[in-house]
Amino acid sequence: AETVLITQQSHEELRKVLGANKMAAPDQQKLVVISVSPQSRASLAVRFQLNPTDTARKLTAFFKKIGAHYVFDTAFSRNFSLLECQREFVRRFRGQADPNQALPVLTSACPGWICYAEKTHGSTLLPHISTARSPQQVMGSLVKDFFAQQQRLTPDKVYHATVMPCYDKKLEASRPDFFSQEHQTRDVDCVITTGEVFKLLEEEGVSLSELEPAPLDSLCSSASAQEPTSHRGGGSGGYLEHVFRHAAQELFGIHVTEVTYRPLRNKDLQEVILERDGQVLLHFAAAYGFRNIQNLVQKLKRGRCPYHFVEVMACPAGCLNGGGQLKAPDMPGKELLQQVERLYGLVRTEAPEDAPGVQELYERWLQGSGSERAGRLLHTSYHAVEKAGSGLSIRW
Ligand code: SF4
Repeated sequence: AETVLITQQSHEELRKVLGANKMAAPDQQKLVVISVSPQSRASLAVRFQLNPTDTARKLTAFFKKIGAHYVFDTAFSRNFSLLECQREFVRRFRGQADPNQALPVLTSACPGWICYAEKTHGSTLLPHISTARSPQQVMGSLVKDFFAQQQRLTPDKVYHATVMPCYDKKLEASRPDFFSQEHQTRDVDCVITTGEVFKLLEEEGVSLSELEPAPLDSLCSSASAQEPTSHRGGGSGGYLEHVFRHAAQELFGIHVTEVTYRPLRNKDLQEVILERDGQVLLHFAAAYGFRNIQNLVQKLKRGRCPYHFVEVMACPAGCLNGGGQLKAPDMPGKELLQQVERLYGLVRTEAPEDAPGVQELYERWLQGSGSERAGRLLHTSYHAVEKAGSGLSIRW
């Protein structure tokens, strides 16, 4: 089933859909939206020796040339993922006595990690995983719900593809949780990797460097996109840093100016601590790569996990080093990663709550933060598959 799915979610499929869409009668045509992840943009920027803004504008020009109507940046939807994760953490921290409000909160943006958790340690891990949707799947809600309504279209009349640093994002987009039975459509119809964008460029005979840049699109009028923006913190989305700063302020009234990471066993396992008068108030960690994830799982199973919050990512060094990113045969992997990290961090950062358009969408689209709509459109659930001798599976 996974092979069929990967064939359906490929750059060949995207080309086929865009080609057929161009030829279709006007009333049969779909509105095509492509959402590009900032990690993919940084990888392409290194390959074509461009700055992030030029890369974003040239990618917009390229996708429009092959049939897209709008090109968005998943950095915008990530604002919602970060804010929802932050609210969930504060709520769970305050309700520590309630066993259903399990700490630590483990992040949910990495489908490689979610798949592992569901298949191997469901009953232990799932109560800990944040229910906030990943930036890709929040973008799915934004495009198929908010944006489709703006365009006076039903969700099935919009075709939504994303560009991601990762093959596992294809599996994430295909989860039944992100399929609308009512409209018979997925929130994200097709996921292609950064490497597949490169193949598309080659197949179209286009060099990104030589394309005329196009203006950037934005999802709502108050979020006019002049240039790409980013978050504070690491290249996998900045969950740890955003939630840490916010929780320090909201729970303890402490304003954190600088977040100091302390490396533990290796560079992919780091911790951040908030202390007052020698007492640990917040203990956060980032655990990247399966070696560190397995250690974390063992600690949790033995009831010896000291953390309140863990940013968990399956790839060593996180999403900038994802399996779908571009390789550079003539450059050592470490050097390539450093260059991608540098270009990723070269854009202006802003706090998610201050990003133009975010508050407006909470009010206009979601009827307020914490509303039933926000819960439905910005959160998800997980499903343990625990194989018993009989092949029985248990849904969480
Ligand atoms: Fe994908 Fe790796 Fe990022 Fe996980 S850490 S979302 S597997 S690129």
